[in-house]
Amino acid sequence: MYDAIIIGAGPSGLMCAVTLGSYKKKVLLIEKNPDIGKKLRLTGGGRCNITNFKDVNTFINSLPIKSGRFLYHALTLFGPKDIWDYFEKRGIPLKIEDNDRIFPKSNRALDFIDVFNRELQNNNVQLLTNTEVTDIDIKDQFTTVYTTNGTFTASNIVIATGGVSYPHTGSNGFGHKIAKKFNHTVTELYPTESPLISHDELIVSRTLQGLSFKDITISLLDENNKPLKTQTGDLIITHFGLSGPASLRLSQFVYHYIKDHNKAKITIDFLPTLNIETLKQTFLQLKNTDKTKTLKTSLKSFLPERLSEHLISKLNIGDNLKIGDVAKQTLLDLAILVKNFPIKIHGVNPLDVAFVTGGGVSLKELNPKTMESKLIPNLYFIGEVCDLHGYTGGYNLTIALSTGYTCGYYLGQK
Ligand SMILES: Cc1cc2nc3c(=O)[nH]c(=O)nc-3n(C[C@H](O)[C@H](O)[C@H](O)COP(=O)(O)OP(=O)(O)OC[C@H]3O[C@@H](n4cnc5c(N)ncnc54)[C@H](O)[C@@H]3O)c2cc1C
Repeated sequence: MYDAIIIGAGPSGLMCAVTLGSYKKKVLLIEKNPDIGKKLRLTGGGRCNITNFKDVNTFINSLPIKSGRFLYHALTLFGPKDIWDYFEKRGIPLKIEDNDRIFPKSNRALDFIDVFNRELQNNNVQLLTNTEVTDIDIKDQFTTVYTTNGTFTASNIVIATGGVSYPHTGSNGFGHKIAKKFNHTVTELYPTESPLISHDELIVSRTLQGLSFKDITISLLDENNKPLKTQTGDLIITHFGLSGPASLRLSQFVYHYIKDHNKAKITIDFLPTLNIETLKQTFLQLKNTDKTKTLKTSLKSFLPERLSEHLISKLNIGDNLKIGDVAKQTLLDLAILVKNFPIKIHGVNPLDVAFVTGGGVSLKELNPKTMESKLIPNLYFIGEVCDLHGYTGGYNLTIALSTGYTCGYYLGQK
């Protein structure tokens, strides 16, 4: 009989297991893959954006979910600063990159796997890999866990099985099945942090494929062409649509909009640091100062050449027309197009290829101080299996580590 069995050796289950083990509890961690942290190894393109440098309130206010306050206790107990200290103390120096994102100095996600493997041993956690949990039963507050490798019993059971995105890494929705079995509500699951699919002529023709932009803004429009949601960040135009942080951040809003309206319209502002009036005046001034240059040449200091060519052709301006000969109104229209470039969006990449799963076990039925079920004593849910997620930028691993630590800490005191 174990004090606790934890199902899933992703970041949430690992942090829970090593924390609980440090209280000298008898802990069994079960993972169906041959190794721990299969998804963790892929994070941040193999570099692992482990957390960010946000304080607790800023972290919560930056989440794209309404119930972010649920995390207040967990983040106060073990937030970004604690994650930084935890790994640095264990010999993994970290660094801060742009937008407060934190990575290991080595750029190796595997360094975190090494730490967890050491900590599992140091804290006497029993790890059972290549073992899939097929079902659990909870009777008289004791849990029986059925696996492909035998049956185990425990006083407490922690579900750390992740969401449903990237199912080849192991997260295939098992935790949601278990939650439903014990009458928990699982809120609608949807793709978040997922590229946008477009059949717009611009994308189908591949005119701008491969162009990437730094720090642009992109807006989802409502039926009256008013911005519903705006995001800032880098953007890549691909063969299927739009990728890169700005479009990933917008994706969950686009997903819900398309569900109701079949398609969505977004606009890109390619020069967000210049307001529309300034840009109009700048173009009109160029008409005087650059009058003998072609419009394409004049635009070089503002936009990539392929984009300028596309805008020039969209406005039916002659290829080699000198800017001095371009009509004033056409230059004003060009400024408007640069600031409000429209693209129709027809979908969001589906859940299995989304970086993160939106939705999950309802937070109303979990205790934020312990991650314990309010319906079934001694049953706990941590990490992405819960209805919790953030944007890219270290938020999701922080949520996994913070809820995992909170649960382990509480069970350690129990
Ligand atoms: C490509 C990619 C890159 C990402 N990059 C970042 C990043 O840089 N920063 C960031 O903050 N977030 C990132 N994320 C998100 C982040 O990886 C996840 O939010 C996080 O891994 C969730 O942790 P978890 O412990 O809840 O679940 P998971 O990491 O999914 O782990 C769940 C574990 O449970 C195991 N399991 C499931 N069912 C069973 C069962 N029945 N029996 C036994 N074991 C089972 C699985 O095999 C798996 O190992 C990225 C995600 C992806 C897909």
